[in-house]
Amino acid sequence: MTEKKQIKMTEKKIDKKMAPKGIPSKEGEGNKLVVGTCTDVDCPVHGKLKTRGKVFKGTVTSKHHKRIAIELERLVYIRKYERYAKSRTKIHARLPTCMEKSVNIGDLIKIQECRPLSKIIHFVVIDKLNAGENKKWKQ
Ligand SMILES: [Zn+2]
Repeated sequence: MTEKKQIKMTEKKIDKKMAPKGIPSKEGEGNKLVVGTCTDVDCPVHGKLKTRGKVFKGTVTSKHHKRIAIELERLVYIRKYERYAKSRTKIHARLPTCMEKSVNIGDLIKIQECRPLSKIIHFVVIDKLNAGENKKWKQ
């Protein structure tokens, strides 16, 4: 019995050593995004950035270096007319380097609130939901 236990222990040790650097050892979370190496500190999956608070879904309207802007439509009730009016909100979000190539203008993405990273950024991209029609935004 003791021999078997020892073998199991050694196997575990080998597994830990075999894991490549840069990829977190957390089970489940690391498998969401297929990345080789992500050294971004402000990445919710590979970095140390914690997410909390509000979650929004929206369309990417502009893309910058490590930053995107998304636009989302919501309904606001107007008491005088007892009807709803459409309202547009624009939010800037941090784009982790591991998602920089996969996220483009027109895509539907999911963002979550995090600590303020700069004057205008307090959200981070956590998921890509749909690839958008790029033609629509190029015109
Ligand atoms: Zn990452």
